[in-house]
Amino acid sequence: MISDRRVTLGDLSTAARFVGALPGFLRSPLDPATARRTVAGRLEWRESDFIDHLKLAVYEAPANPYRELLRWAGCEHGDLARLARADGVESTLRTLCRAGVYLTVGEFKGRQPVVRGGSTLHVDPVRLRNPRARPQIQARSGGSRSAGTPVVFDLDFVRGCAADTLLFLEARGAGPRWRHGDWEVPGGASIFRLLKFAAFGRVARWFTQVDAADPGLHPRYRWSGRLLRATGALCGAPFPPPEHVPVEDPRPIARWMREVLDGGEIPHIYTFASSAVRLCQGALADGIDLAGAQITLIGEPVTSPRLQIVRRAGAIGVTRYATTETGPIAYGCLAPAAPDDVHVVRDLQAVIQPGANDLGLDERSLLITSLHPAAPFVLVNVAMGDVATLAERACGCPLARLGWATHLEGIRSYEKLTAGGMNFLDVDVVRILEEVLPTRFGGAPTDYQLVETADADGRPRLGLVVHPRLGPLDADEIARTFLAAIGAGTSAERVGGLVWQAGRLVRVERRVPLTTQAGKILHLHAQAGPA
Ligand SMILES: [Zn+2]
Repeated sequence: MISDRRVTLGDLSTAARFVGALPGFLRSPLDPATARRTVAGRLEWRESDFIDHLKLAVYEAPANPYRELLRWAGCEHGDLARLARADGVESTLRTLCRAGVYLTVGEFKGRQPVVRGGSTLHVDPVRLRNPRARPQIQARSGGSRSAGTPVVFDLDFVRGCAADTLLFLEARGAGPRWRHGDWEVPGGASIFRLLKFAAFGRVARWFTQVDAADPGLHPRYRWSGRLLRATGALCGAPFPPPEHVPVEDPRPIARWMREVLDGGEIPHIYTFASSAVRLCQGALADGIDLAGAQITLIGEPVTSPRLQIVRRAGAIGVTRYATTETGPIAYGCLAPAAPDDVHVVRDLQAVIQPGANDLGLDERSLLITSLHPAAPFVLVNVAMGDVATLAERACGCPLARLGWATHLEGIRSYEKLTAGGMNFLDVDVVRILEEVLPTRFGGAPTDYQLVETADADGRPRLGLVVHPRLGPLDADEIARTFLAAIGAGTSAERVGGLVWQAGRLVRVERRVPLTTQAGKILHLHAQAGPA
């Protein structure tokens, strides 16, 4: 998974800071009333906290690249403060965006230089780290299409996010009868999740999609779990041991959920949307009724075909939208207008869209600004690569009463996927793999996947992976259906479809879809080397 397995001094000092700070964190649990006060306070002081945060983390931080961007825009701290006080945070961010103060995902990750007018700047994500945050937990962003970015978290940020999570779960009915579980991959992101639960309650089970004892994993994965458990035990807040449950056989989790239900309690699991589909398919196949079980769907698009499978198994699936770099951005509406209708957690993040612009930004792209003083990065108008519909809507659900009035829905990656030398949009691929092919050939959304590979001569090839469980199917017919649907796609990549047909670039492969190192089943999975 991670090729470099060296243990650095940075790893050791991060671990030491973690062990030093964890007892204090675990000994002062959050309750709903405190969480409510915390969120309300952050919303009340939102403008002035934003002004102070940019002063300390940008204007007074010589290495921060936003200093340059703001200078190019001619925006002194006094100007920013006046704007924010007069017009609010979002209006200020829209003004800054028009003046060039934003970063695209490529600029943020250092893949492209930042060019504004005649000036150029190279951003190293390390320089965007928040100087106000203490590095106490190490993680790595998903890296579904790249190597991933190292992210370090401060326990104060974990607690800050836990307030929002607690209120989100409380709105769904969570209380002492809920039993929380997590099913991800080992590493910082799952430690972050376990700590968030521990900030207000207990973690009942910790399932991992990859065996934490696998010698191929960086030793950090084993340590971080052991440190967490050893320190937790000393503080009287024990964490469960990691249990390896592969995506291919989720039945142990389905059985655990059933046992909890039989005991009159509510099982709740945090997992990737595609993993939730696998879990519910496994439960359905084994006749395990999950009626009343709760699932928080993370990390991947939540579509109607995916939700239907969760519902068929009896479970209640609610979306959460986040990135490793930002922390939580939005939590699922409880009176949703779309499968992935979510409320922006306005106390932690500000989200705007550029609208019609001549900056080369997609007008529907989501620009994120982190507001928490201990957030891992200083993000001002950063496009993390997603588009969505953003609106203020009075849904009447309990999350709206927390002051989270902004909704997002239809969240999709707008990063152009390149496969077989052709570009097309994620949104088309999602529709074809989740709706067109299952309708025609059977199976579920997680049974189909595109894999980009190269043949022995290095020519690009696209593998259309189809799960063997669907039984005998005509491979040519599947390939033709896929190409016809891509040819009719909204991204107007008709040429792509034609070129692929001519070049026989799409090859149907009957095997189990691959998962990425972050445990997700992506619609397009890039694979190095010959297939
Ligand atoms: Zn709502």
